[in-house]
Amino acid sequence: MGRRAKFLTLTLSTGEMLVMHLGMTGRFTVGGSQLGEFHHETGTDARHDHVVFHLGSGATVTYNDPRRFGFMELWPAETFQAYPRLMRMGPEPLSNAFSAAYLDEVLQGRKAPIKAALLDQSIIAGLGNIYVCEALWRSGISPKRRASTVPGQRAARLAPAINEVITEAIEAGGSSISDFASTNGELGYFQHSFAVYAREGQACRNCGGPIKRLVQSGRSSFFCSTCQR
Ligand SMILES: [Zn+2]
Repeated sequence: MGRRAKFLTLTLSTGEMLVMHLGMTGRFTVGGSQLGEFHHETGTDARHDHVVFHLGSGATVTYNDPRRFGFMELWPAETFQAYPRLMRMGPEPLSNAFSAAYLDEVLQGRKAPIKAALLDQSIIAGLGNIYVCEALWRSGISPKRRASTVPGQRAARLAPAINEVITEAIEAGGSSISDFASTNGELGYFQHSFAVYAREGQACRNCGGPIKRLVQSGRSSFFCSTCQR
């Protein structure tokens, strides 16, 4: 199995690639029950089990997704380079291709707010709303700041902040706000470390001022107007 951006990939013996996306509420459970019963051990409702993989070992892997924004798609493995959803995807945030120097270059001349630029998957792959909000707070950059003004000192703070947020979130097992859980049903706990996300009106962990919320490109941005400029 592999992963690229927010897509999971599985190479099959048929020569095809199974590409999967969890959408908003998708969840894989290894060793879950069969269709038709409530999964007490994971808290998922079997009515929302959509795909069950029966492995040669006898184990099952169940895909459950109440809101059904997730998807699975087969694509020939040999032409996977041309898979449309991944064609114009930017570098992975934890890869060597991502750095302050890369941000300096890619943000040059961009009029969009830095928040929108960081959510743009063609600039950085796989970065979601929570992690963009947290990385901007850590690097003291306002989500409203024009992206073209970030190269230089700000990009030098932003690139390591993105790396740290992603690394800490992975170590914490992810952020379980409503649905996310690991394949054994365990919840992540990075949400307890949020500095700004979903903390509107609460005290900034740096200056004590109130965290503010703003809607940008249809998504909530949480930030501190004192610490982030
Ligand atoms: Zn603050």
